Amino acid sequence: MSTHAEIGNVTYSHDLPKTPVDAAFLASQAGKINVSMIALVGCWGCTLSFLDMDERLLGLLDKITILRSSMTDIKRIPERCVVGFVEGGVASEENIETLEHFRANCDILISVGACAVWGGVPSMRNQLPLADCLEEAYIKSPTVVAGIIPIIPNHPDLTRVTTKVYPCHEVVKMDYFIPGCPPDGDAIFKVLDDIVSGRPVDLPTSMNRYD
Ligand code: SF4
Repeated sequence: MSTHAEIGNVTYSHDLPKTPVDAAFLASQAGKINVSMIALVGCWGCTLSFLDMDERLLGLLDKITILRSSMTDIKRIPERCVVGFVEGGVASEENIETLEHFRANCDILISVGACAVWGGVPSMRNQLPLADCLEEAYIKSPTVVAGIIPIIPNHPDLTRVTTKVYPCHEVVKMDYFIPGCPPDGDAIFKVLDDIVSGRPVDLPTSMNRYD
């Protein structure tokens, strides 16, 4: 069985509904909107930046309902969200399915951090054939136990990894990007506060990080 997959059947959605950040829309939501976050292939550093919003997050709780976060084990969001944050890039079929479902059920999708924005550290493997990466990880690894014949995992229940690591916008349309590894909590708060306040998203250059 093949252990990898190509991204070949993914369709961009260029005709998604216009971003509903106007005051009338927010009022129609009784002043409170659903917000969720998912994590694909990253290190959770960006998730921790969310926590760096500290008590400011509490101040937003009268305007948002956090439906799902990376701290929970909910596989799929149970209700439509206005805002969806994504940490991490796409490196498996499961990631593709998760991101496509999130796109279909969020009005505004935001790439958070270098991995989501351009692939980040995991995309370093794009320089090599996938077969070489798998062999290095599972066959030649110094942690291979002596006396046991090493194999590359290939159980049918395992998700297939993609040949490359992809930034999210190469799989689905993303509406906003917050760069950084990780971005500051200040930057995430600025974007979220703009949206829930009905303002156009305006992340100052000074809050963009490219490290
Ligand atoms: Fe971790 Fe950096 Fe990727 Fe965020 S961008 S998930 S901090 S490696």
